[in-house]
Amino acid sequence: NQTLQEGFAVVVRTFEILETKADIVDKPGARELPPVSQGIEFRDVSFQYDAQPVLEHITLKVPVGRIIAIVGGSGAGKSTMANLIPRFYDVTSGAILIDGVDIRDVTIRSLRSQISMVTQEIILFNDSIRHNIAYGSMDKSDEEIRASAEAAHAHDFIMDNPGGYDAVIGEHGVKLSGGQKQRIAIARALLKNAPILILDEATSSLDSKAEAEVQVALERLMEGRTTFIIAHRLSTIKKADRIIVLSEGRIAEQGTHGDLMASRGEYHKLYT
Ligand code: ADP
Repeated sequence: NQTLQEGFAVVVRTFEILETKADIVDKPGARELPPVSQGIEFRDVSFQYDAQPVLEHITLKVPVGRIIAIVGGSGAGKSTMANLIPRFYDVTSGAILIDGVDIRDVTIRSLRSQISMVTQEIILFNDSIRHNIAYGSMDKSDEEIRASAEAAHAHDFIMDNPGGYDAVIGEHGVKLSGGQKQRIAIARALLKNAPILILDEATSSLDSKAEAEVQVALERLMEGRTTFIIAHRLSTIKKADRIIVLSEGRIAEQGTHGDLMASRGEYHKLYT
């Protein structure tokens, strides 16, 4: 009886999750989004989760292949801005366009297939390293998985483990260090090979050797992709084609590192 009661409780919780309806769904007649060729545009975008506005009147054009760094204090709206691109939320007003097409007019699947995200919250499964890297790209060969791991500077630590690519990494990857988890996430993004990249660069938890390795892997990942990066590290910020400074949900300043330092405003204050 006890086993059955426990089983019922699990079933109820499991079905609550399985039956959750997504808030964001394809609209009738949604089209496939062709591979991005021109760029991404925020057109007068405002957003709020509830009563409080989080982003207000964001207008920004990002040509394909550019690196945009988003900086600003905690709670400024950086992650929110990044999360609107794959439609984790829909804009409250305004629009986000890819090659001039409103992202609400295309299928979510075709939109998200063009976006890779590497964030602070890396989702790993209690499965082999091979399956964790190939997650979402199950049609890839062992050679492709290995090539991605090499490019992400993950191959060596993977081979140091008994079991190599077949080693099981534990619940949420407990058997891996922070830097190793990040490199698995980077290998996954390299394998997916999507043209748009969203990086929430968090390395505060890494020691300097791990940070250097992650940095090299990230640079490899950014090559040739349109990248939005929530940047903390100076090396990335300096390399960005444009820096957006968010303050209280608005673009307070934008320009290159040199421009923004010279104008001695918000960025100069953050930087110094
Ligand atoms: P940043 O990335 O710049 O630190 P965020 O985009 O995470 O800022 O958050 C901007 C604001 O939105 C904050 O006030 C935060 O509390 C709020 N916020 C973030 N996520 C949610 C959410 N899922 N629901 C409600 N409010 C949220």
